[in-house]
Amino acid sequence: MSTRSEITQMIDFSASREKIETPPPVSTYYGVNTFSEQTMRKMVSSGTFEAFKRWQEGGTVINAAQADEIAAAMKDWAAERGATTYSHWFQPMTGLTAEKHDGFISIDKETGGVIETFTGSKLILGEPDASSFPSGGIRATFEARGYTAWDPSSPAFITEVALGKALCIPSIFVSYTGDALDKKLPLLRSDAAINRAAVELLRLFGQDVKQVYSTCGIEQEFFLIDKRWYNKRPDLMLAGCTLVGAPSPKDQQLEDQYFGSIKERVLNYMHDVCTEAFKLGIPVTTRHNEVAPNQYEFAPIFERSNLAADNNLLLMDMMKKIALRHDLVCLLHEKPFVGVNGSGKHVNWSLADDKGNNLLNPGDTPEENLIFLTILVSVVHAMHRHGDLLRAAAASLGNERRLGANEAPPAIMSVFLGEQLSEIIGMIESGKIEKGKKQDFVDLGVNLLPKFMRDTTDRNRTSPFAFTGSKFEFRALGSSMNVSTTVTIINTMVADSMAVIGDKIKKELKKTSSAGADKGKIDNKALTVSVLKILAAAIKESKPILFEGNNYCDDWAKEAEKRGLSNTHSSSEALKAFIVPKAIELFERHKVYSKVELISRYNIWLSKYEKSLNIEAKTLAEMIGAQVLPSAYNYQSDIASGLVVLRDLSDDMTIDMVEGALEDRKDVFQKLTADIFYIRRNLKELDARMQKAQDMALEEKASYFFTAIKPHMDHIRRHVDALEVTMPDELWPLPKYREMLFIL
Ligand code: ADP
Ligand code: MG
Repeated sequence: MSTRSEITQMIDFSASREKIETPPPVSTYYGVNTFSEQTMRKMVSSGTFEAFKRWQEGGTVINAAQADEIAAAMKDWAAERGATTYSHWFQPMTGLTAEKHDGFISIDKETGGVIETFTGSKLILGEPDASSFPSGGIRATFEARGYTAWDPSSPAFITEVALGKALCIPSIFVSYTGDALDKKLPLLRSDAAINRAAVELLRLFGQDVKQVYSTCGIEQEFFLIDKRWYNKRPDLMLAGCTLVGAPSPKDQQLEDQYFGSIKERVLNYMHDVCTEAFKLGIPVTTRHNEVAPNQYEFAPIFERSNLAADNNLLLMDMMKKIALRHDLVCLLHEKPFVGVNGSGKHVNWSLADDKGNNLLNPGDTPEENLIFLTILVSVVHAMHRHGDLLRAAAASLGNERRLGANEAPPAIMSVFLGEQLSEIIGMIESGKIEKGKKQDFVDLGVNLLPKFMRDTTDRNRTSPFAFTGSKFEFRALGSSMNVSTTVTIINTMVADSMAVIGDKIKKELKKTSSAGADKGKIDNKALTVSVLKILAAAIKESKPILFEGNNYCDDWAKEAEKRGLSNTHSSSEALKAFIVPKAIELFERHKVYSKVELISRYNIWLSKYEKSLNIEAKTLAEMIGAQVLPSAYNYQSDIASGLVVLRDLSDDMTIDMVEGALEDRKDVFQKLTADIFYIRRNLKELDARMQKAQDMALEEKASYFFTAIKPHMDHIRRHVDALEVTMPDELWPLPKYREMLFIL
């Protein structure tokens, strides 16, 4: 019996978890593992709490005594729940999270025993050895000092495993010169940029808003497969995706998976993940089957971007860990299986003010609608100027296999607004606001302004950046990626466009305001006229980025080229958008990334691309050399012996053999021998190309990998996949697609 059939027999289809008769209501345990503001308020003095709140809202940092008080409260809270260690929890440029645990205990000088302590200085600042994290050249290893610093806008939380608990403190990670070595600090800086720009813009409309921040809701796709299959696939283990594997005859053609009835084993897993997420205050609400077999999605309710980003990272981490408890493996790779859909991460983005109002909600009054339109046009304007940065944010080796295919948005960035909004935008652009098909109008005395239906019903699932009623949805990001960079980019480019548009409105207002108008008072008439004029110009300028049609269609690529929109399939090409002068100026102007930080990131991403492909190529070579070919040789000798027997028998004239039988068997042998030969020859060629790449500089190497290594690996794969469907099932050493995707 083959190992594969043994595994099939081991897989337990029944729901094996211990039954919980009546799970408690979520509200009774939601957030028990987070040190929330309410908890802090109860445990520290009101003066300290107020100082903390002021700091959180951008004021001065709390003093040492206040930090000590909060640290002691946090330690008491955590220790009471069984935590024995604490850790600054941060997001180095690996794309993953990092933690280094330290015990609460210290030696009591008087008794010689141990006591639990935690000080404000330990809470606020950590000093992990930064030398082994990617820095992209920001600092040399001899000046390895890096600091983690508590981010007070994201609550500390407790992680638990069966035998213990740890307190985690969300932190930023900086070099000793103050450069960001992580993904969180730029996101926080970009939220400050959007706050500055939006508050100033809203003032023009007479809105006294104290703070504006970005919000983010993340839809997370993933695959689940049985752990035993995973353990037999070196490619899944080392590269996260299958590098060989013939398609299963049935995959997603019948469209019977999406939103289908969820398998019991998967539901148990989902309940487990949700329970743990709820304890950490992660508001996961949506879960369903996705398009591909064994593909699923989780989506929490949106939150402040910084929190949403932290929570998405935590959720991904838990999804992987909890899967193992169920003998499952959660695959977060963008394209684990060819031929079926890959996994993305939709980033829903909007802006909210300090009262929690969504600024991308069409309002009830004409004034509110004017603000809504100004922000909407700012986003479109931003996408037109800097959409290539968003494309770059989605650039990775894994996502390269997904973007541009007929399952995910293409590599061409465009904005979808929907029929109703497009009509309105068109009217503003032409300066002729007339009664349209779908909306009521409000007479402002000077002009007509459309009223909106809140619920835009039309959807375009093929657009990479779509307005979906009250938020924009960016759909090009890959499932394994950290959303922080994407949000950082959207925030910065929108802040920039808001500033540009706001300035223009200000200038126009000066021209249009009647001489006798009250100083300091808003002249609504002049404001509406000025705003509509500036928006018309901004729309005209940004028009090439607007696209309502089918993004998957070939004609769009041609049309996009005419419009001058870029369409780069290569990650290394796309990443260049980060280091062109236009981008450096943008990010420096808003104090989000310095030039040094941008260049270091570019180097890190490029090097990650190259290193990951290197791992893939080596894994492919080893799997074929050590698993596929030995099995193929066995089969080859079986066929050869059979052929000899057949030839001898056919020479024996007493056996009446059908004409062509011997030829047919010869054909099988020849085909198999040819496949083996081509696989071997192409492996040698792969090796030669890898050698050739060795001395290349990073940029040249990444580009060579894209043009010469990746397609060659795909070529080898086709030969191996041809073997898979002709070799005896028993002899095939690797779990097959039909097993991994259907046996659960
Ligand atoms: P869809 O139809 O695209 O699935 P949903 O309404 O289910 O849309 O929302 C998808 C995600 O968008 C959810 O995580 C949701 O919380 C989030 N979302 C909704 N409103 C906002 C907003 N104002 N800002 C950011 N994300 C939002
Ligand atoms: Mg969605």
